[in-house]
Amino acid sequence: MKFTNLTRRTEIGANSYYLESGEESFILDCGMHPKQEGDEALPNFKAIGAREVDAIIVSHAHQDHLGTLPVLMRRQPQARVFMTEATVAIGSALLHNSVNVMTRQREELGTTLYPLFTHKETNRAIEDWRACRFRQPINLAGERVGARAEGGVTFEFFDAGHVLGSAGVLLRAEGRTFFYSGDVNFDDQTIAQGAVFPETGIDVLIMECTRGDVPQPEGFTRAGEERRLAEAITRAFESGGCVLMPVFALGKTQEALAMIHRFRREKLLSDFPLYIGGLSTKMTEIYDRFALTSRRSFPRLQLLEELQPFVLNGQTIADAPAKPGRIYALSSGMMTPKTLSNIFARRVLEDPRHSIFFVGYADPMSPAGILRAAQPGDLVALDPEEPPRELRCQIETFQFSAHASRESIVAYVKKLAPKKVVLVHGDPPAVAWMHAQMAAALRGAEVIVPTPGVEIEL
Ligand SMILES: [Zn+2]
Ligand SMILES: [Zn+2]
Repeated sequence: MKFTNLTRRTEIGANSYYLESGEESFILDCGMHPKQEGDEALPNFKAIGAREVDAIIVSHAHQDHLGTLPVLMRRQPQARVFMTEATVAIGSALLHNSVNVMTRQREELGTTLYPLFTHKETNRAIEDWRACRFRQPINLAGERVGARAEGGVTFEFFDAGHVLGSAGVLLRAEGRTFFYSGDVNFDDQTIAQGAVFPETGIDVLIMECTRGDVPQPEGFTRAGEERRLAEAITRAFESGGCVLMPVFALGKTQEALAMIHRFRREKLLSDFPLYIGGLSTKMTEIYDRFALTSRRSFPRLQLLEELQPFVLNGQTIADAPAKPGRIYALSSGMMTPKTLSNIFARRVLEDPRHSIFFVGYADPMSPAGILRAAQPGDLVALDPEEPPRELRCQIETFQFSAHASRESIVAYVKKLAPKKVVLVHGDPPAVAWMHAQMAAALRGAEVIVPTPGVEIEL
């Protein structure tokens, strides 16, 4: 099996991987870079030249895995596109929202490249997506096959426990097995239950490294962290302020809502008004729709009905005051300029009564990353078009990552004992830590960091 990393750098960018076995070829994931613009936000499709792929397989509906799928489908019109049923639902909401964002950026950035695709093209693309069940082997022609099917590449989705619909992909070809983790979490979150991945019989593992440079604190438990959050919310409300939680629309919003539901049920918190964004509402609707048919905790919990959040959008955020005793769980998680969480932070930042709670991953160079690292009294620029403001509000960070801890990844890899590990989806320090650990843990196995754009033999 040949493998080319189409991600432009060793980083969590526009994830995409080209694979080729005999006459067949396919692409795993097709992301959009969260921080780059225009062509640089796309995977490096040039690395595969004029080759036509048979299929595109998408692991889950986060922007960095599916964000430029309509562009790839335009370049590869013959390719069949596969993803799980929930990813079809979430992916369409995500891409249509992305068209709106890019249309706005067209003017802001003065780039005629944007939008990279339109609503119409997105609708046409979605019609061609094929929804697949978990644990059903399928060949690249889209036909169901047995697990031991001879001849040609087959794939099978395994629940990755990261966000609704997220999957790892088991590939069988050439009499060997290859497993792509996608984004994974081995531990239970509040809604999502930990991944169910193969534990034996994998020759080559392609593994994400997101948290490779973050050690798990001694004695950490999710239950303990949840309690710490409930106490911090109580303190914030008692000091007469509100709480802003920058969250991803997909995954972290629903996990945050479910935690608040649990806090209320356990009488740790009483009722209070709660605000989320428009895209988050759409994503939450999909979580509610799949509640009984996906693997999760609280299967009967309908988040929107139970929590009745108020919805803020690009217009109403302009004059939404920061009112004490409320939680604003707004996207984006990285506080990208012009998003709800970035705009709302201006109302909170200079008031010591208010709080900002970080509950998930943020790139260190993103506004959320910069703010999280800032000290009281620092001047913080959240948007290059706005004057910097003095940080006077309370900042707290909680560990509710949707990604596996590095310790749980090492434990998994030790148990699986593949002959080869390919490390992807991590910044250089994260990948370097994983490389050192795995090379030590797996004697005789080959551990590879695939140079972007360079074909390797797996
Ligand atoms: Zn993800
Ligand atoms: Zn990712």
